[in-house]
Amino acid sequence: MKKLFITLFTLLSTLSFAQSRECVKIKSSKNSEGQSINLVFVGSAFGSQLNQFEATVRRHWRAIERFTPFSPQINTMNVWIVKASSPTDGFCASSSPIERLITCDITKAKALADRCTSQTNREIIVIHNSDQHGGSGGEISVSTNSPYAPATIVHEIGHTLFKLADEYTRSDAGGRGPNCGGQFRQCSGWQDLIDAGLATCESGCRNNSKFTSSPSIMRDLNETSFGHMNQRNICCIFKQKTGEYPRFCQTYQNIGAGLDSYCGAGGSIPSNPSNPSDPNESVRRFFSRLRNVGQNLNERLNESLNNNQTSGGN
Ligand SMILES: [Zn+2]
Repeated sequence: MKKLFITLFTLLSTLSFAQSRECVKIKSSKNSEGQSINLVFVGSAFGSQLNQFEATVRRHWRAIERFTPFSPQINTMNVWIVKASSPTDGFCASSSPIERLITCDITKAKALADRCTSQTNREIIVIHNSDQHGGSGGEISVSTNSPYAPATIVHEIGHTLFKLADEYTRSDAGGRGPNCGGQFRQCSGWQDLIDAGLATCESGCRNNSKFTSSPSIMRDLNETSFGHMNQRNICCIFKQKTGEYPRFCQTYQNIGAGLDSYCGAGGSIPSNPSNPSDPNESVRRFFSRLRNVGQNLNERLNESLNNNQTSGGN
């Protein structure tokens, strides 16, 4: 009997050791996984070169951490590296004619991610073992070993997790988000930030047909920040996923009617209870609805003109 216990114990500890070796956690949330944002890096085409994969992710992460929503101060985020071997030829590929658009077999990426964390608030980032610059957004974020990879990853998480649209003006710019104000709404969504000197209003997004704020990694991969307008939207996502605002969001508590009111208002921004003690709330909601009707009509028109919603390597 004693022998059986020892065997069982050895087996269990070997299993958990195998899992801990396979799942390298490089950032830990103070909350449960259900109340955290969970980023999982998986590798494609690294074969058994798992130390090389880990080193690549750690190098990328040091650059990613310079962006406010991923900074070391954020304590409601987990980050894992799944050190499990993948097919040597990988499960991602460039899709011509857009060479820099790299897409992956999502099922395989998920199966690797499953080894370290469940599906709660999970964001999968695939690093495809290639020096080519490229990537994609969508259900998962994809990038490579290229020096541009950290910026690409931040940009793609901007799409997948933070629900932001591309702000660059090429005709293949994709997605919809609160960061591209329509022709009718223009920059009214962040006028309070403009008044506070934290944002600008300029034409941008697909075909220069909308309005956005500068600077922003959603517009230019050389930028080193999301900009305040996007960061405030990101605060709403954190609140929705983790139940709290990260510390950097304090900047926006004194802007307009405050964050709870902002995150509760209209459109693509996640809804939270708005501030019931604010007497202007119903008036604001009425105008916000009116604006949304205008914006929706405008966006539907734009979409019927240009149906391309793919987000490319930028
Ligand atoms: Zn994009």
